Amino acid sequence: MQAIRAALRDAARLCQLVQDRYLSASTKTAGDHSEPVTIADYGSQAIICRALQQQYPDDAVIAEESGGQFKQLVSSQKREQVLHLLGHVLGEAVSEAQLLAWLDFGAGRRSRRTWVIDPIDGTKGFLARRHYAIACGLLVDGQIAEGMLAAPGYKAGEGALFYTRADETWRAPLVGGDGQHVTVSARRDVDDFVAVQSYERAHASKSRMGQARELAGLGGARIIELDSMEKYALVACGDADLYMRLPRPGSDYAHKIWDHAAGVALVQAAGGMVTGLDGEALDFSRGETLPNAGMIISNGQQHARVVAAAGRVLHT
Ligand code: AMP
Ligand code: MG
Repeated sequence: MQAIRAALRDAARLCQLVQDRYLSASTKTAGDHSEPVTIADYGSQAIICRALQQQYPDDAVIAEESGGQFKQLVSSQKREQVLHLLGHVLGEAVSEAQLLAWLDFGAGRRSRRTWVIDPIDGTKGFLARRHYAIACGLLVDGQIAEGMLAAPGYKAGEGALFYTRADETWRAPLVGGDGQHVTVSARRDVDDFVAVQSYERAHASKSRMGQARELAGLGGARIIELDSMEKYALVACGDADLYMRLPRPGSDYAHKIWDHAAGVALVQAAGGMVTGLDGEALDFSRGETLPNAGMIISNGQQHARVVAAAGRVLHT
């Protein structure tokens, strides 16, 4: 596991290099937003899958990107840039054949153990220099077993690596060093509650979440909006108490397992609760997508009230 955590740190370093080199002020205004994300996405996934291949050669992987897409969709100039950055971060020359093999490591394989990877979660946050995350979870027999998450934007850019170890959740500096055991908050008092939610309004219904908080008696909660799975980490370490993801009216968006697996592991091992909208467990056993239409994540203290309130908002 330590080698995979080191790979997440390297992946975060690559993402930060991409921001420094390719995310100029002009990129942000030119409208060509795809380029830096593409480079960082493939680079990050390659680093994580390389470590998985070395450590766990028989395991399966479900990841957001693939080698086939890289070959088909990415220009030769960008492919060179990815190889160059990988060589720099890994300290060894990397060939395109190696990169393609890493990107597809474990894909389509059946195994009791499946790693679930989001090489950059929160791409809009990455581009806007807000928050993003690099996420890696482990499923064993379709159940959440472990999670790790690099969050470069944590604490105003200080960054942190969150991970599970021995059924507990830990937070370490992103640059390396010892981890500190963390748990969810014990906050019950509704007036002190801190709620986190997506920055992007297309990703969840802010009005429904506001109504559900009101109905649950949490109308006085402080709201923090930020991109990416860092929200799960904030609940896991007690910085936040509630994270809701209620679908917008009419949405039939199918949530991807790589957007949740690592975060669910962190919150559960930290003593928190993660359920679907009706209080049911999230079902990670069905391939790339979850059957659950939304999520409620909390420190457990007001969970049942929030589930009941969300139900009233969604079913009226
Ligand atoms: P967040 O910043 O928490 O909203 O999470 C970003 C993730 O939201 C991305 O990984 C997307 O895959 C996911 N996403 C994209 N569109 C939607 C949508 N319509 N509803 C819910 N999630 C979405
Ligand atoms: Mg994502």
